[in-house]
This record gives sequence, structure tokens and C-alpha cells, in this order.
Amino acid sequence: MPLIDPRNRQIDYLRVSVTDRCNLSCVYCRPRTSMKALAHADILRYEEISRLVAVAAPLGISHVRITGGEPLVRRGIVPFIASLSDITGIEDISVTTNGVLLQEMAAGLRAAGISRLNISLDTLDPRRFSAITGSDLWSRVWQGIETAEEIGFDPIKLNMVPVRGVNDDEVVAFARLTLERTIHVRFIEFMPIGARDRWNIDACVPTGEIRRSIENVFGPLEPAGSGASAGPAQNFRVPGGQGVIGFITPISKHFCDSCRRLRLTADGKIRPCLLSDTEIDVKSPMRGGCSDAELERLLRLALEIKPERHYIAESPGGCFERTMSRIGG
Ligand code: SAM
Repeated sequence: MPLIDPRNRQIDYLRVSVTDRCNLSCVYCRPRTSMKALAHADILRYEEISRLVAVAAPLGISHVRITGGEPLVRRGIVPFIASLSDITGIEDISVTTNGVLLQEMAAGLRAAGISRLNISLDTLDPRRFSAITGSDLWSRVWQGIETAEEIGFDPIKLNMVPVRGVNDDEVVAFARLTLERTIHVRFIEFMPIGARDRWNIDACVPTGEIRRSIENVFGPLEPAGSGASAGPAQNFRVPGGQGVIGFITPISKHFCDSCRRLRLTADGKIRPCLLSDTEIDVKSPMRGGCSDAELERLLRLALEIKPERHYIAESPGGCFERTMSRIGG
């Protein structure tokens, strides 16, 4: 029986956070002062992640995204990814990275079977990058993006989170990248997760506003179709542009009714909804010797508790129990 939740959403996509550690500390994602890394013993071992994926695959999970924290800082990540593609039913594996280690790791990832990369980049200004991330590594990330392009990753998606007063003045510059390059630039609305002190609804720049800024310069955007890898993004193109501009609107227009995802946190919890702190522990049962049938039962239980939708736009709350780096953004 496939994984279909009570609202008839078929789940085929698992996002796996392989570590909560990161080589950057972006102000809105991973607070610099309060972050104590999880102990190694608390992080799921690769065999445990593979086992869960192997149980989930016959139930219809065909796409796995590896994320974190920064997935590329975990030792052994490339052979682990290669091993996931041996699991019958796993058709698509992708990675979300901050790009810091891409220059040296892009070729290995390609050889491991990854063809699509999401790279997070919130600014094109090296000094601003240092202020946002706490590290003077913009040039390394940019070099990593260029290396990935040369190696032939396609598409490369650049994820940018505009935060008002921090980097929202750069949306046009990011859109301009798509004129000459086949890159996909995706604007993701800032969500109330992790950094409580940074969040307020006014800091989130709604997609309508981002789009207007871009259209004021380039004219009306043309629909660019969604394609198999678009996920919740609404895709457009600057007329004549090579690349794609995507908008992801979790706040201004949620897409919960078409959500196909479960998440697995670095410490072994299944999280049915990014914007709900309700989770199901699979690490303790696995370490206690549970059967595969029990793991399947826990996966199905996660579907039972998957919320119908989130109410972030209507209520002032948020999910601040865990940072995005621990959940797996
Ligand atoms: N280290 C990897 C990276 O930087 O892509 C993967 C993990 S990071 C948590 C994944 C994505 O989550 C990044 O694109 C980041 O910008 C985004 N993110 C973190 N906190 C967010 C928030 N509160 N709202 C929206 N996106 C957020």
C-alpha cells in the first residue's frame, strides 16, 4: 500500500538531514550563540538512514533529498549518497548545499549519481555574505557554483531567502543571473523557523512584492512550466532569458494541499510537516531492535498526524523548537 495520508496526499519524497552541523551560521537559520551541535551518538548512522529509506522505497518514496545542516561536512557523505541509489525504487537523489565545499566535492557528487543541485546563496555581495553567514567565504561559494556548472549539473537551483532590510534589495540582481545562464534562481519566503529573534511577519518579503520589483526592471515574466523537478516552485522566465525564476510561497500562498513530503531529522525523527513541531522518533525503535514492519507502521503513523495545512499567515506563531539546520531545510 502506498503512503497516502488521510487527505489523499501521496507521499513520494523524503528529505533527509544527515547532520545538524554547518560550516556557516546564517543569522536567520542557525543562531551563533545558542547552537550546541548534537553529539555524534545522537545523529542517525548512515546504515540507519539507509534502512529507513529501504523500508520507505517500496511504499512509494522515490525521491530523496540530502540536506542538513550542511550535508557536505559529514564524513563519508559521497559514498553514502552513492549507496542510496542502489536501493530499489529510489529514482532521484538530490542535494541541498551552501556550496562552500562544492569546488572540491562537485565531481564526486556527480560520479555518485547526483545530477541536480540546490545551492543556497542569499547575497551577491561578499561583504554582506560575511555579515549574514559569519564567514568570509563568498568567493569559495561562487567558485563552487561555477565548478558545478562546468561539470554539468543541470539544473542548478540557487535558493535565495529575501529578508527585509537584509538582502531584499538584491532580488533584481539575482533575477539578472538568469539572463545569460541556465541557472534557476528561486526566491523562498522567509519562514518562522529556528531564529525566533529574527522573525516577524514584516521581515518576510511576500512573493508578490519580489515579483513586482523584478517586473519593474525586466517587464512581465513569462510562465516557464513546472517540470518534474519544480516541486512547489512557480516558475517563470524573463523574456529571452536562459534561466528560470522560481517563487516558493509558503507564507503568502501555502501549498500544503499538494505536499508530498516527509522529513527525517538528523537525530532520527520523522517530521511530517516543516511548520509543525510534531515528530515521530524512529531512532530509539531502530536502536531497540524494531522490525521493518514496525518502521513501516511508524511511517504510516506520520501520515496520520501530517497536518492538513499550516496557519502561519493567520497566526503569529512559528516553529522555534528546532532550527532549520536540525530539521533539514
Ligand atoms: N546547508 C544547506 C544549505 O545551506 O543549503 C542545507 C540546509 S539549509 C537549512 C537549507 C535552506 O533552508 C537554505 O536555503 C536556507 O536559506 C533555508 N532556510 C533556513 N532557515 C530558513 C527560514 N527561516 N525560512 C526560509 N528558509 C530558510
